[in-house]
Amino acid sequence: MSELPYSYEAPASQALFDRAAAVTPGGVNSPVRAFRAVGGTPRFMVSGSGPWLTDADGREYVDLVCSWGPMILGHAHPEVIAAVQEAVARGTSFGTPGEGEVALAEEMVARIEPLEQVRLVSSGTEATMSAIRLARGFTQRTKVVKFAGCYHGHVDSLLASAGSGVATFALPDTPGVTGAQAGDTIVLPYNDLDAVHAAFAAHPGEIACVITEASPGNMGVVPPLPGFNQGLRDACAANGALYISDEVMTGFRTSRAGWYGVDGVRPDLMTFGKVMGGGFPAAAFGGRADVMAHLAPAGPVYQAGTLSGNPVATAAGLAQLRLLDEAAYEKVNAVSARIQSLVTEALTKEGVAHTLQNASNMFSVFFTDRPVRNYEDAKAQESFRFTAFFHSLLENGVYLPPSSFESWFVSTAHDERAVARIADALPAAARAAAEATA
Ligand SMILES: *Cc1c(COP(=O)(O)O)cnc(C)c1O
Repeated sequence: MSELPYSYEAPASQALFDRAAAVTPGGVNSPVRAFRAVGGTPRFMVSGSGPWLTDADGREYVDLVCSWGPMILGHAHPEVIAAVQEAVARGTSFGTPGEGEVALAEEMVARIEPLEQVRLVSSGTEATMSAIRLARGFTQRTKVVKFAGCYHGHVDSLLASAGSGVATFALPDTPGVTGAQAGDTIVLPYNDLDAVHAAFAAHPGEIACVITEASPGNMGVVPPLPGFNQGLRDACAANGALYISDEVMTGFRTSRAGWYGVDGVRPDLMTFGKVMGGGFPAAAFGGRADVMAHLAPAGPVYQAGTLSGNPVATAAGLAQLRLLDEAAYEKVNAVSARIQSLVTEALTKEGVAHTLQNASNMFSVFFTDRPVRNYEDAKAQESFRFTAFFHSLLENGVYLPPSSFESWFVSTAHDERAVARIADALPAAARAAAEATA
């Protein structure tokens, strides 16, 4: 990627990236990390503290990615670290039930009223994959409705028109997914209830579930229009399908009870990940007890995991959730709002057309002057301006997601010094965005 104009030095990261590329496809273990959408050398991070990340070259950045959402208390929060150390000293995995997983499930169920039963897994992908299987097993139907630009992990049947890295790289289809898997997926435009009603009319008795991001953050932040989620809820109920709300990103991020705590629309099943793991691989799916009763060993739908409910991961997640009281969300929302207004101010001053959208403390900037309501709108933005904006901020010590199709994330640890760094870096970045050419 070194043919790009962004040549400011990151020699230690570059050396690590070269080593990585020799042993790992593209040098990364998750595609968006490779910086391909924006070019340049991905920064290899060596440590994090609060809102700060330090890379292999010793440069310090304000982190606006927060590990893609999980680090809502900032990096290396002392109480989370202490809980992890205490757990890890007792052993790392037993392959038996343990109290930690019960305590984490109880905490989740206590926060989210429609979450009657929960099953722990190790990634958001596993959560959505298992929720879809359960929905199919429960309804005895095959088809799944999803929305273009929504990302639900790299589940075969859910990769069609997905957001996140699939959006970043404009992948039309994913080789390796069979026609049968893709053929059972109905992809509809987001925020379009007419399309949902038409799909139910065209496939009577065939649709097992509608899965949607509770409030999408994987095509940039594109909240549901008023009434959209409720419309999905009602359409599913009227047609005998399950409504699956994917809260892997929004869960315990957008409020104490996630997006359910914001819009109150009651799903049949929900999926979680990111924040609930406190930076470890812990995720979950759950919901209606009568549906969850179909899961093995209580029922016939099989699902399992060697490391599911891992004692270290659940200790980290539980410690993090227990620290996330109302005051913590007020703090994250407030610092998010401040950063959002600084971004708009800087871009407006340079005359850069942009639309800033948020869903509670999640937000992103689209380089377009029109509201973004679906994936087509998101793709219509001037992404080349994001590239210039991104690199200017990076050079000045602010670490954004390396794609214009991702949410930005902040934490309770983003303090005055972090905000000041962002404020100092924004004018040059806004100028770079203004001057950028396609
Ligand atoms: C991140 C994400 C996933 C996938 O989670 P992984 O842990 O990366 O497998 C699923 N759904 C949504 C909404 C996500 O943001």
